[in-house]
Amino acid sequence: MTRLITLQKFIIPPQQGKAFRVTQGQFVKIIDIEGKQVADFMAINSQDYTEIFSSGVTMDCNGSIYLRIGDYLFSNKYNKLLEITEDKVGRHDLIHPTCSRRMYETQYKIYNIHPSCHENIQRGFEKYDILYDTLQTPLNIFMNTAVDSEGAIKINSPVSKPGDYIVLKACCDLVISVAACSVQESACNDFLCKPIGVEIVNNTKF
Ligand SMILES: [Zn+2]
Repeated sequence: MTRLITLQKFIIPPQQGKAFRVTQGQFVKIIDIEGKQVADFMAINSQDYTEIFSSGVTMDCNGSIYLRIGDYLFSNKYNKLLEITEDKVGRHDLIHPTCSRRMYETQYKIYNIHPSCHENIQRGFEKYDILYDTLQTPLNIFMNTAVDSEGAIKINSPVSKPGDYIVLKACCDLVISVAACSVQESACNDFLCKPIGVEIVNNTKF
């Protein structure tokens, strides 16, 4: 007999981030509390900080730019980090890097200080003494990117409704850093930054 036990539950406020540990076999549930909000998600092997989530390897191994239930998130060393076990939305992005200060400067001509997923994810990892300097492409959970037959990319408003979620099962011990995306200048978050919910669940056999 198995029982699901929620070990941790927290809310990431708009334009902020949080890092946390999960151990092999635990589940991470990422919840779009109000709907149409993207969560940038990065994972690092807690036994080997040089092994990090790779969107490129994930697309390579899954043979798709999109993710389905049963697909894995892979590392830069071609190992499985997480498995998608539930998904109420079915549309996420593996193409775009995290938003960053330089992105706001070049894409939106915003030169004053703007919160960003890169800095929020970086700050989360810092608490675990993980150096996270280089701009990465995370799993952009709930981000609705359309690619046409010519390869043109269009960012549409997320299709996630209030309370929709995705659940990922850890294949190894991980440090995960999640940011409630800071972009309010485009359809990425439907022009309004909102919170993201996180739950860590243990599947206990007894
Ligand atoms: Zn962002």
